[in-house]
Amino acid sequence: MTQRAPLQRVLLKLSGEAFSDPEVKGGIDPRIVRQVAEEIAELKSSDGTEVGVVVGGGNIFRGNSPAASGMDRSSADHMGMLATVINALALQDALEKAGVETRTQTAVAMQELAEPYIRRRAMRHLEKGRVVIFAAGLGAPYFTTDTTAAQRALEIGADAILKGTQVDGVYDRDPKQDPSATRYEEIDFLSVLNQGLKVMDATAISLCMDNALPIVVFELLREGNIRRVVRGEPVGTLVQPVPTA
Ligand code: UDP
Repeated sequence: MTQRAPLQRVLLKLSGEAFSDPEVKGGIDPRIVRQVAEEIAELKSSDGTEVGVVVGGGNIFRGNSPAASGMDRSSADHMGMLATVINALALQDALEKAGVETRTQTAVAMQELAEPYIRRRAMRHLEKGRVVIFAAGLGAPYFTTDTTAAQRALEIGADAILKGTQVDGVYDRDPKQDPSATRYEEIDFLSVLNQGLKVMDATAISLCMDNALPIVVFELLREGNIRRVVRGEPVGTLVQPVPTA
């Protein structure tokens, strides 16, 4: 178990499913949103880490899901992007209740609800200690919020993407199906792509690989985990540019 470098500025990627009760699947569970917000609040007050968040929308709608069958893909993706805004507003509310100043920026203009995405303004917010939630993905269909996370992380100069999931890292096989599956402590991008491991989609992985942006995949709802990852504790799986020896 090797200690990793601590992180100063991070991009936290929360899939839509992170907002819902795993037993229920779908929708928003306010207790979970509150728990995530409190974890972020604790991280901010203890370590002063700069935090950007990209939220997904899969708990509500995905452009490529059966619920969208027969629809024009672009229209369906617009619905998916709007779903991410719903999650963003829920998280913003919970963060502010937890005492964290927060700004939501959307890639599709909806200025009555949130600021438009402006990189320089996002940077200023981060420097002032505000959490910035990036919603509506990249504002373009045929992309995912994983790719958005990679793109925004690069734009804001994040040290890493923190991908919070329901499992505690990346496994060689699906641990839910096969109990003998083993977790990687570290793995490189090329192995992720070649082995088809479920970390993020291939577009997102390629973007991270081309720009040497590390990803830490970790169990989101284990208490204190976000802070452990930020402090460089060997939690979850580190996906990094260079193959491990
Ligand atoms: N989406 C999109 N462009 C983007 C990001 C998202 O069209 O840049 C749409 C797409 O339909 C996607 C949905 O928004 O299925 C929700 O995002 P995603 O599936 O990435 O959410 P997650 O799986 O993280 O919950």
